Parts: sequence; C-alpha cells; structure tokens
Amino acid sequence: MRYSGTVIRPPSEADSYILQVSYGCSHNHCTFCGTYANKPFQPRPMREVLDDIAVAGRVLPDTRRVFLADGNALVLPTPKLTSILDALGAAFPLLRRVGIYANAKDILRKGEADLAALRQKNLEIIYLGLESGSEEVLRRIDKGAKATEMLEAVRMAKRAGIRVSVIALLGIAGPGLSREHAEATGRLVSAMDPEYLSLLTLMLVPGTELHRQHQEGEFQLMSPAALLQEMRDILTHADGLTRCVFRTNHASNYVPLAGTLSRDKARLIETLDRAIAMGPAAFRPEEWRGL
Ligand code: SF4
Repeated sequence: MRYSGTVIRPPSEADSYILQVSYGCSHNHCTFCGTYANKPFQPRPMREVLDDIAVAGRVLPDTRRVFLADGNALVLPTPKLTSILDALGAAFPLLRRVGIYANAKDILRKGEADLAALRQKNLEIIYLGLESGSEEVLRRIDKGAKATEMLEAVRMAKRAGIRVSVIALLGIAGPGLSREHAEATGRLVSAMDPEYLSLLTLMLVPGTELHRQHQEGEFQLMSPAALLQEMRDILTHADGLTRCVFRTNHASNYVPLAGTLSRDKARLIETLDRAIAMGPAAFRPEEWRGL
C-alpha cells in the first residue's frame, strides 16, 4: 500500500481502506484549493493499483469499505474503474461500499448506464464538492461546473442508485455575496435532495489564487459569527429534503452539528442561534481548526 503526495478523504471515510487510483485532480483550478497544487493529474498505472489491492487483500482481509482517491477519481474511464472494482470485490469478500470523489462533469460524462454498472460493483457513494449553489460564486471560484450541471449530476447519480454526499463551503462567497451564496445553496440542495450534506468552512491556503486575492484586498474573509449566520441561512432555505443527513464535523468548522434535516432542522437552527448569541466561547478555537 503506497501513497503519493497529499492524500485526502472525507471524514466519513476515516475507517476505509484508501486506495489511490489516480493522482491529483483533473480540474485543479478552483481558486481556494491547494490540495494538489504540486501534483499534476495522472491516472495511476493499473499494475500498481492491482498490486496494492492484492497486498491489502492479504493484510486487511476484513475490509468492508474502500475509498478511491485522489481528487476526482471518477474521471477515470469506466472499463478501468470496473476492473478496479472487480479486483476489490475479489480481494475483500466482506466489501460493502466503495466511495469516490467526483466533479459534476465526471458524473455527467459517465452517463446513467455506466454509473448503474459501477453501482452494481459496489460503487455506492459519490462525494461532490458543490461549494455553492450560486452561479456567480461558482464562476468566481472557477469551479468548472455550473449549478445546473451540479443538479443534473446529482439527479443522474441518484437515478443510477448511487448515494450522493454534497459538500458546500461556508465563507467562499465573502461577505458581499454571502446572502446570495446561502440562499442559492439552500435552494439547490433542496432540489438535489442528496443523502448527505456537509458544510466546511473556508481556510485560506497560501499559494492559491484566493489567497492572492485576499492579500491584494480583492477578497474578504468573514467573521465566525457571520459564517454561522451564513450556515443558518443555508439551513433556512434547505426545504423538502427527504432523508438528508447533515454534518459540520469537519475540522475547519467553528461549530460541529449533526442531524437529519427533515427531522432536526429546527433544533440545528436553535443550536446555531445559541452559539451566535454566546459568541467566541461557543466557537472552536482558531488554532484547533484545520483542513
Ligand atoms: S475540483 Fe476539488 S480537488 Fe479539484 S481543484 Fe477543485 S476543490 Fe480542488
């Protein structure tokens, strides 16, 4: 089991076997993201991937969950992903779930039939970095996909039987577009009705375009209280969700929340209101935050 460079995975994949099937991100232009700044995208050689699976099958035979890294591994051709999923199924008899990061366009390019075929081979959950439901914010951060494409991608994945975990980013719009960002994100998530919604909080990464914009006064950070208000606004506009599990358990967030939106939205908003009223004593200390 060998890893190259920085390897990230969602918090909910903490207990999964992480398998690198590609390096970097094929988009690699988001203005806030420095994760793969020094790691050009490339598929990992199949021979290496299969060798790692064989080793993991011997060392971790009881593995039930696997996460395929790096940034948007779903961009790999369907036959290659199929071979990888077949090898995982053979190596891990107890395998129940494979997760993967994807961009909206990766999902749309795959099409429903390919997604359904991958689902049959245990690809069970896709993590999609939505960041914002606002077309203007998505354009400013060079996300590489429109909100309309994000919506269609989530709907397509769900029709194929794949669960979707949507990740949005507090603070990414700055104070000027915060309200628009929150309302549009809440509305788009409502239309998506994903199985999971996570919120992360922006942390500026030196070397990124957004860091440069901040240094030159073109982008302003928001206070913790304003970020919590933004979260409140997103929740307020997230309506009609059927079974969406909501989490803010990422280390970048100031207040960790968890619940099912159809049942717990009022409680979550009350908790936020108490945190906003209490002020800094209720927030995760700045030095404890991380990406
Ligand atoms: S798509 Fe994801 S991994 Fe790629 S640059 Fe954007 S935020 Fe980073």
